[in-house]
Amino acid sequence: MNPPRKLHIKSYGCQMNVYDAQRMVDTLAPEGFVETASVDDADLVILNTCHIREKASEKVYSELGRLRVVKDEAARNGRTMSIAVAGCVAQAEGQEIIRRAPVVDVVVGPQSYHHLPQLLARAKSHGRALETEFPVEDKFGFLAAPSAHAIRARGISSFVTVQEGCDKFCTFCVVPYTRGTEVSRPVTKIVDDARRLADNGVREITLIGQNVNAYHGEGPDGRAWTLGALLHRLAEIPGIVRLRYSTSHPRDVDDSLIAAHRDLPALMPFVHLPVQSGSDRILAAMNRRHTADDYRRVIDRFRAVRQDIAFSSDFIVGFPGESEEDFLATLALVTQIGYAGAYSFKYSPRPGTPAADMREMVAATDMDERLVRLQELIDSQQSAFNRAAIGNTVDVLFERSARNPGQIVGRTAYLQPAHVMASPELIGQVLPVKIESLERYSLLGRLAPPPEARSVPPVSAMTPAHLVASSQTTMGA
Ligand code: SAM
Ligand code: SF4
Repeated sequence: MNPPRKLHIKSYGCQMNVYDAQRMVDTLAPEGFVETASVDDADLVILNTCHIREKASEKVYSELGRLRVVKDEAARNGRTMSIAVAGCVAQAEGQEIIRRAPVVDVVVGPQSYHHLPQLLARAKSHGRALETEFPVEDKFGFLAAPSAHAIRARGISSFVTVQEGCDKFCTFCVVPYTRGTEVSRPVTKIVDDARRLADNGVREITLIGQNVNAYHGEGPDGRAWTLGALLHRLAEIPGIVRLRYSTSHPRDVDDSLIAAHRDLPALMPFVHLPVQSGSDRILAAMNRRHTADDYRRVIDRFRAVRQDIAFSSDFIVGFPGESEEDFLATLALVTQIGYAGAYSFKYSPRPGTPAADMREMVAATDMDERLVRLQELIDSQQSAFNRAAIGNTVDVLFERSARNPGQIVGRTAYLQPAHVMASPELIGQVLPVKIESLERYSLLGRLAPPPEARSVPPVSAMTPAHLVASSQTTMGA
């Protein structure tokens, strides 16, 4: 038997890329590849790239420069290392990568990961291989499922793609060009995946899609099901104790999604709902096709059915033509909604998108200054939200052992990391934790008596609606 070949994948960007990286590992496992954390001993290195902002896509070329040195070193030691570029930069700039980076053996767009074994073989026989078509076949149907061993190794919480691509065409965004039009997976395939994950120890599933609440997959009754209907179905699967979904568009929030939040205790009361701007003028120029008031009304609909619900969002500052007045409308919206956390970005023109041709660029100094002001406001809301947990008893799904000996770590409903001193045998369980202190973004506490032994109401009845948490990181870039 041949010794296993080693595969190193470096992923940038969104949750979809994290998920895709796992599917690539699963697709290459039957070819004898096993994952390695080190690039130096890898036989195959895949850069799973992000094209959402310029900074994100430029990273690929600097990383390829570093990989050239590692590949040369491997060759001097008599080893062959192959390098593949996957993801949205591969899709958008495939030919450019081939021209600019001779070190690359394979370029593969997000629709073609199931062809990776053939592409590697083609590169071996022909020198290099590129595939960035949008094939007519359903890639979901061809991607390998993870083995039971791989599922168990990946832990308690898992992503499941339910939808890919986007038809919204926001004027700043490359996604409709790099990921193609909206495609939804059939309900039965998703339910099968979820069952298999649950059978192998997964307790929390996050449904992902570029525009996840546009989901309209075929149900077992032959009709198109909504995301709300899908969530109802998944909540019936034994072992799945928490459900989440990301990323949603305000226009696609329908009654069935609101009903799912009302009816399903497993559906976590924490929703990522990007708005981008609080100015109607800028929202129109972005082609978001909703106003700030429409967005406020959507938030109110969620809050009407779950008082403990909290929100995070995405914002772009410095979109072409954004005035100080427009920016103040964004700050006003943030103040009014009260977020648990949010991602905020400086506008980055993306080649091929309509906004890239807009002429009224905002000065770089104004963009920098607005980003700081927005992030300060979001940070203060996030800190307040986290501090409000102190003294409360909250449910935590334990995920793994912490670095500190004797400690385990899990997440609250709002994705706040929570640490307690407890046995690793509790990993996989949802248990009440009395929160005692806050260290940066992490909550520290101790196991509390189970709910029936408590005389206080559950945290969901005590947490102010505007309090939430999620770490203030940047996605993609
Ligand atoms: N589908 C989601 C939505 O409707 O908002 C977002 C998807 S996108 C992968 C994630 C975030 O990146 C966006 O919400 C937006 O804030 C940011 N983004 C996208 N294009 C950008 C650009 N050209 N410049 C700066 N930020 C951008
Ligand atoms: Fe991009 Fe999201 Fe707009 Fe689709 S809805 S174009 S993914 S920002």
